[in-house]
Amino acid sequence: MDDCIFCKIVAGKISAQIVHQDKSVLAFRDLNPQAPVHILIIPRKHIDQISSMEEADLPLLGDIYGAVKTIALQEGISETGFRVVANNGPDGGQTVGHLHLHLLGGRLMHWPPG
Ligand code: AMP
Repeated sequence: MDDCIFCKIVAGKISAQIVHQDKSVLAFRDLNPQAPVHILIIPRKHIDQISSMEEADLPLLGDIYGAVKTIALQEGISETGFRVVANNGPDGGQTVGHLHLHLLGGRLMHWPPG
């Protein structure tokens, strides 16, 4: 998608601090971190949000969660714990229309979220 900022990161047109990549997934540090570790994990393929996934896209969720596990180990937060967040649509607070998970760690998370 030409106007999608995360597609531009996938294409290498915008720089990002990439921490992990494989054939289907890219992960990079959030520009505006909300925790000592704040990484976004995205599919290379443009999908707007979870609710617009098609059945054929569902295996990507396994790839994305596999990346979460790998990155958590890499970042040293696998044992201390972390939170995974997916904002979906306006009420979910989604601001970038390319499906992504937030991986947050390195501090105690509170519940309920705001
Ligand atoms: P969401 O509100 O769930 O859609 O999250 C979008 C996230 O993308 C926010 O936490 C932003 O700080 C982050 N973000 C936006 N643009 C960039 C960028 N160019 N590089 C890294 N993170 C970004």
